[in-house]
Order: sequence, then structure tokens, then C-alpha cells
Amino acid sequence: MSAEFKKSFTIKGMTCVNCARLVERALNRIDGVKFAACNLATSTAFLVAEREIPFEEIRRAVESVGYEASEEMPEEVERRRYREAKGNLIAVWVFTTPLMLLMMHHMFLKEVMGFSFIEAVLGLLVLSFPGRGTLRSALIALRHRHSNMDTLISIGALSAWLTSLLNWLDFPVASFGTIGSMIVAFHLTGRFIESHLRDKAVREIRGLLKLRLEEARVLLNGREVMVPLSAVKEGFLIEVKPGERIPADGVIVEGASSIDESFISGEAIPVYKREGDEVIGGSLNLSSPLRVKVTKVGEGSFLNQMIKLVEEAQGAKIPIQALADRITSWFVPSVFSLALLSAIIWFLSFERLLPIIAFFSRFLPWIDLSLNPLAFSIFVFVATLVIACPCALGLATPMALAVGVGILAKRGLLVKNAEAIQTSKDIGVLLVDKTGTITQGTPVVTYHNLSEEVLKIASSLESFSSHPLARAVASLSSDSIAFKDVREIPGEGVIGYLNGDEYFVGKALDYSPYEGLLNDGKTVVEVRRNGEVIGFLAVEDPLREDSRDAILKLKGMGIRVVMVTGDNEKTALAVSRKAGIEEIRSNVKPSEKLDLVRSFQAEGYKVAMVGDGMNDAAALKGADVGIAMGSGIDLAIEGADIVILKGGVSKVLDAMELSRMIFNVIRGNLFWAFFYNITAIPMAMLGLLHPLIAELAMILSSMTVILNSMRLRR
Ligand code: ADP
Ligand code: MG
Repeated sequence: MSAEFKKSFTIKGMTCVNCARLVERALNRIDGVKFAACNLATSTAFLVAEREIPFEEIRRAVESVGYEASEEMPEEVERRRYREAKGNLIAVWVFTTPLMLLMMHHMFLKEVMGFSFIEAVLGLLVLSFPGRGTLRSALIALRHRHSNMDTLISIGALSAWLTSLLNWLDFPVASFGTIGSMIVAFHLTGRFIESHLRDKAVREIRGLLKLRLEEARVLLNGREVMVPLSAVKEGFLIEVKPGERIPADGVIVEGASSIDESFISGEAIPVYKREGDEVIGGSLNLSSPLRVKVTKVGEGSFLNQMIKLVEEAQGAKIPIQALADRITSWFVPSVFSLALLSAIIWFLSFERLLPIIAFFSRFLPWIDLSLNPLAFSIFVFVATLVIACPCALGLATPMALAVGVGILAKRGLLVKNAEAIQTSKDIGVLLVDKTGTITQGTPVVTYHNLSEEVLKIASSLESFSSHPLARAVASLSSDSIAFKDVREIPGEGVIGYLNGDEYFVGKALDYSPYEGLLNDGKTVVEVRRNGEVIGFLAVEDPLREDSRDAILKLKGMGIRVVMVTGDNEKTALAVSRKAGIEEIRSNVKPSEKLDLVRSFQAEGYKVAMVGDGMNDAAALKGADVGIAMGSGIDLAIEGADIVILKGGVSKVLDAMELSRMIFNVIRGNLFWAFFYNITAIPMAMLGLLHPLIAELAMILSSMTVILNSMRLRR
């Protein structure tokens, strides 16, 4: 694969899905961009390109469609936006509250002289100060010949304001000026609460960002110096005191301590680490000072990779969203036409339609029968515009994804391809690798019949392999023999040459002599010289504690669980029995795993494959959902849609269950979003909805979607 340029950044000024789509299109038009996605929920964009793109170019592309791109950290942008929104909120109510009180006084107590003038003036203040952002956004949209929810609010508020101006100029129009101001006030209030909730929804990622440190205590010429993390390089020695976070990935060179790595898997139990162990930047040193040699900083560090993956997945598009996107793109223009149309019809046939509202006015106190045709058609126009904002529709999928992906990450499940969340609900077959997935993957040699010499041979050869079995054998002896032309045969073992002899450690030629061991679930590793058996080792890889329970639950979800292993049939059978699996495929070569995936797919199943990623990349990629058991610090596991950072089959169960829940929430969100719009638009067109109630309903529908998404967190 050629090197790819990837970049995440912040986009300012987006209010609806149409904005996000525009930004996306603009980014895609940049020369060399292969993929671009823009996330409304987090106000971020992400692109993949064939070449390195200077940020200036990105900024220009985004500006060309009327938004702002910034390399600023999302938190800073968020903080500033929060301050601005709060200022606007206060201002809008400072102008609107007296207006409301005055209106009530005017309507119910005593006529206020020149009230429409006051409405026009205060309304102008509202529109030109707190409402400025909304108008500007609508204007930008107009200039690029598209429309967003700010367009609808702006037209609504402006038309209402215009009535007070006309009324003051003695045109025969009832004044809705206060209502116009209130629409803006409600709108800003709603947006404020919304952004507050949105903020909460993505708090997992905030939690991860907080783990990034600014500085590290570096040992330079025997002295401790605080150095900004950006200046820390691989190979530096750093000192980490108890109670401090470890600033970068590294290896302990001195000291031993308990370390809290709960951000990786959500498990709170500290891990004890000592000299030679790897530590991960962001984890917390609990008990004693450590000296750590830095192995990774910056982009490549575990924490940064994790943050990037979460952000990318939170901003990703999944197929179900395409529908909502398609609808919203023609929603605003058609609503505008509908609003205009119904206003014209009301104006022209007011007398004939009057019985409708006369009938409903008995239950709906806000219907004012004394309005003249022009006033009433404006009333209908404004209400229809306001009710039809597709903002809930735009939030439905991204919101649930943002919350869901965050929760998955907190449980140690990193989503690399968000589409997996949608696909997971249809999984019919789950192929599970034996070693390291069902079993612990840290096998130990329980018996061997090797002479000291042969033991040295076996362990020296195995030290070339990173296979879990190889590690067990290699650890038996520290003496090493220099073999020639050592190579690993995936799924078989290791071959090497010494003094003209060929040595092999790995799968047995004939398993029948080892039956007793195999039936006990042990794996036998043979050592051969020139094809002749010179000894064997029995290796035991105990079941993970959670395997059996999780497998039973997965089967309970209606999923056919099949164990796949390169190991011999007897061992496989013994292990599968302990794990509660009936179906096994043993003696499967790494290259055959993909065929297995395909054969189940040919039977019409959606297939999920769980593997350790060592030689499973093709099968993981070929499966509908590829789940990789992460090993340590590497997150760039090829072919995987979901990476399990820590843990076993129970994490697969988590992934399946959570994905189903997330998808259900998305479906629920889309239902609610449509429901509000589809029931309320006809009501507004019939003149039964007060513009203010319409605005309240709009806020409510966005809230429903956000709160429904946050329910995932439960
Ligand atoms: P699995 O992950 O199910 O064990 P593999 O394809 O990795 O499947 O390996 C298949 C079998 O080949 C193992 O069960 C083991 O018997 C043998 N084998 C593979 N590599 C090695 C090795 N480096 N040392 C010893 N045995 C090996
Ligand atoms: Mg394997």
C-alpha cells in the first residue's frame, strides 16, 4: 500500500447535514483526495489523500463553500463556541423578555401606544446582534444556492419582523414582531442546550484527550528536565513518579510498579509491570517511580492512534444514513415551496377555508380568527417554515454513532470501520480462532521428552517466531544456537539448518502417538531432524475464563459459532467441548481461512471472523465483520473492522450486543425525526400550528434524538 495522507480538523459554522455534505463535497474536489467525511455531531472533518495536502489548501476549499476550517483542537473551538452561544443567549432574552411582557400587557390589559414600533426596533436589535450568526449562516447558504435550517429560521423571523414594520407604517397587517424575536430566542436556546448535550455525548473522546500530557520529565545528562512532549524523541529516558501519567509509549528500564491502564479496556484492575515491560502513554503510574525509555511519541503513539480511530469512526458514514441525507437535501427547498404554496392558498381562499380553523379553534386556543387573510397566510408561512427544519434528521445517525463508538472504545473495542455497526445485526456465522481468542494465548509447556541439546535446538528455532506456541517453547532455554536460513512456515512451524542437517519444530507428522495428550486439550509440538522425530513437547493453552459463557450467549443471539484452528482435530475437539462449541474446522491452513469465510457467505450467511490478526488479514478483510484481537500496542491491524484491545470472546459478545443496540437507536432516531416533521407539516399548512409551538416542537425533536442516543450509555 502506498503512503496515505490523513488529516482530521475542525469545521466551524455547520448547522445541519447539508452543511456537512457541502464541506464534504468541497474536500472531495481537492486534487488527490480519495475520501472525505465531515461529522456534524463533532464538528470535525477527516480526509484521506494520495498526497500531502497543505492545510492552507484545505482551508481555502472549506471557505469556498462558506465555512471555516481550523487546526485548532476541538476542545478550544468548543469552548469559544460555548462562550459565544452563552453571550447570544443572554442578549436574545434581554431583548425578548420585555417584548413578551409588553405584548401580554398590550393584548390582555391595555393597548400600548406604538407597540408595533417597539416590536420593530427591538426585533431589529435581536436580528442584528444575537440573531446575526443565524442570518449570516443563512446568507452564506443562499450565496452557494443551498439552504439549511438557519435559512428557514431566518426567513421565518424576518417575515414576522417585517409584519411589525408594515403595521407601524399603517399597512393593514397584524404585527407578529414579538413572535419573530421569540422564534430566534427559542432557536438560540435550543441550539445552546443541543450543543451542551452534544458535548456530553462525545465525552469518552474528551476523556482520552485528557490523557495526553503536555510535558515529560526527561533525564538529560543525569538531570531531570521538564520538556514539552512535542520535543521528546524515541530513545529518551523519562522519569515517571507515582501518581503521574506516563507521557509516552516506552519500555521500563528501571523500577517496577502497578499501572492503571483502564483506558485501554475499561477494566480497573491495575497491572504490575517491571523492567523490560512495555508501558503505554496515558496510563497512570500508581505505586513507585519508573524510568522509561521512550519508544513511540506523537502520531504513532498508542493513545493518539486510539483517539484518531475513535474520531474517524464517530464521523464516519454508514449506509442507513444515505437515506436521511438524500431526504434532507431536497427537504428545505420543498418545505419552502410548500410554505409559500399554503400561504398563497390561504390568502386567496381564506373565506372558504375559514371553517377549518373555526372548528379547530375550539381546542387550539392560539388560533386567532380575527386575523385578516394576509396576516393569517403569513402565520401559516412562518409556522410551516419553522416546523420543517430537518435538524433532527441530520442528527439521528451521527449522534448515535458518536455516542456508540465512544462507549465501544471505553470498553476496549475500537471501531475501524463504522459500517460494521450496521452489519453486525445481520451476522449469522461467527468464526472464532482458537489460539489467543478462545484460549488465553499464553501457552505453557507442561511436558517434554527432549534432551538438553534438542531443547536448545527447539527453543533457538522458536525464538524466530512470534507464534504463541513458539514463545512458550522459546522461553525454555536461554542458550541460543546460530541456525542458518531460518524461516517460518505459517500454520506449520519453523525450519532451520545446522551443520548440513534440517531441523523443524512445529506440527506433528502423525498425531496418533499423542492421543492421550490431545484428548486432554493439549497441543503437541514435534521436533524433527531431517524428517525424523527426535522429541516432542506438550503445550497447554488454558481457556479464557469468559469464553464459555460468552459463546453460549452468542449462540443465544441466534449466531452459529464455529471454531477455526490450524491445530489438529483432537486438540480442537477437546478445547471446543470445554468452550461449549459444537462446530469446528481443524487443520485449517492460514490461506484456507478466507475460503472458509467465503463458503459460509455462499450459503447466504453474513460472516464475522475473530482472529489474532497474525496471519488472518485476508480472512478478516473478507468477512462481513472482521474482529481482531489486538496484541499490545499495534492498532493498525490490517483487515479488521473492529479491534479488541484487551480481553476475549466476551468482548466479541459486547461488540455484537452494542452494535445491535446502536443500530436500534439509529432506527429509533430516524423514526422520531421523520415523525415530528411528517405529522407537523400538514398541521402547520392547515393553519393549526402556532409558529412558536412549531419552534418548540423542532427543539423537542432534536432533543429526542440526542437524548435517545445518550440512552445507549444507560
Ligand atoms: P492456530 O492459531 O489455530 O493455532 P495456526 O495456523 O497459527 O493456527 O497454527 C496451526 C498449527 O501449526 C498450530 O496449532 C501448531 O500446531 C502449528 N504451529 C504453527 N506455527 C508454529 C510454531 N511457530 N511453533 C510450533 N508450532 C507451530
Ligand atoms: Mg492463529
